[in-house]
Amino acid sequence: MSELNLSYWEHQSLFGPADVAIIGAGLVGLTAALYLKQLRPAWRVVVLERGPLPSGASTKNAGFACFGSISELLEQEKRGDLQAVVAARWAGLARLRALLGDATLDYQPVGGYELFRHEDAALAVECRDKIDYFNALLAPVVEQARTFTDASGEAGRFGFGGVGTLLKNEHEGCLDTGRMMRALLARAWAADVPVLTNCAVEAIEPAATGQLLRLANGASVTAGQVLLATNAFATELLPELDLVPGRGQVLATEPLPDVQLPGTFHYDHGYAYFRQLPDHRILLGGGRNLDFAAEATTAPGLTAPVQVYLETLLRQVIVPGRQPRIDYRWSGVMGFGPALAPIIDWARPGVLAAVRCNGMGVALGAGTGWQAASKLAAG
Ligand SMILES: Cc1cc2nc3c(=O)[nH]c(=O)nc-3n(C[C@H](O)[C@H](O)[C@H](O)COP(=O)(O)OP(=O)(O)OC[C@H]3O[C@@H](n4cnc5c(N)ncnc54)[C@H](O)[C@@H]3O)c2cc1C
Repeated sequence: MSELNLSYWEHQSLFGPADVAIIGAGLVGLTAALYLKQLRPAWRVVVLERGPLPSGASTKNAGFACFGSISELLEQEKRGDLQAVVAARWAGLARLRALLGDATLDYQPVGGYELFRHEDAALAVECRDKIDYFNALLAPVVEQARTFTDASGEAGRFGFGGVGTLLKNEHEGCLDTGRMMRALLARAWAADVPVLTNCAVEAIEPAATGQLLRLANGASVTAGQVLLATNAFATELLPELDLVPGRGQVLATEPLPDVQLPGTFHYDHGYAYFRQLPDHRILLGGGRNLDFAAEATTAPGLTAPVQVYLETLLRQVIVPGRQPRIDYRWSGVMGFGPALAPIIDWARPGVLAAVRCNGMGVALGAGTGWQAASKLAAG
């Protein structure tokens, strides 16, 4: 008997043989499950999640529906086909909004702003000079002539400290991460996909009928095919994947009703980001670039250098001269790699990996889930 003390009924209805077992109940795993049930309604699909709740990046992120600020795009252009990567982010956001609806997501098309402080003047000039270039590059993707504008004239209305230049991405927005995940979990169960929590997969082994998944709680599941959607944790089960973790730290202040920051905001090549939440708190995250090596971990945690950096940004730039109370602090882990595109590929016979959204999984997640489901349905 396993420590779960499973009944006949639980064996039959929850842990019974599946056509597809999905490991990881994040945005990628859950959207893949939903799309797979659309493509193959009769298939038995089960999601196995390690945590008591989904415990990866999908419940910890900042909820930016973004596809790139100019300084980020300048860096990312050196790493491959930028137009294709932005097109995937753009299409993924459209897919997520179509799947769940803007009201459920509380999607707000507020625009994305990149801040440059006076000491960043050289970078600001470089980025401003690229506005026409990136507008032309992205016009076929967003089907509009203009994505970026110089919004420095708006700097005064936000009340930022020491900010000389603001560049705006007209087509970015934000959404409510918690509502997104709650809706995905409800949709999965409604589509007859059990999402089984406290079910850490410890090993994937070939079996006569497909794959055998051994769980840490002593139970096991057999499946014709497996989808690995464990993102930053993927190399624990498939060490051959080209992926490294990157931890992100986030905080949220007390409500600040007299501050008005409509928009999503990026600073320092996108390594710092903030927005105001509907209850007027400021959510602020980033600082991974202060010490990449220390943050290349899957362990949850907060570090003094990153927390000091974020609080200094808050008090000197975002609400200069004020000392808001910090009500929430947390961390989450992303999966990064040499290429900007996610891995959506067969890692072993019968085992598909859909991982590594490079910190842009809100944008890329639903498209990644769709591509994974399409491959599994054809498998
Ligand atoms: C702090 C932070 C801020 C971010 N902000 C943004 C943003 O504003 N915009 C944006 O586009 N992206 C953002 N991202 C990135 C985005 O959240 C991720 O790319 C996306 O959520 C990844 O989804 P996923 O389903 O691939 O992985 P995850 O959500 O990480 O899901 C993986 C799941 O697998 C489970 N798991 C792991 N190992 C096992 C195992 N052995 N057995 C069973 N289950 C297992 C985990 O518990 C987890 O629930 C942010 C990420 C972080 C951490």
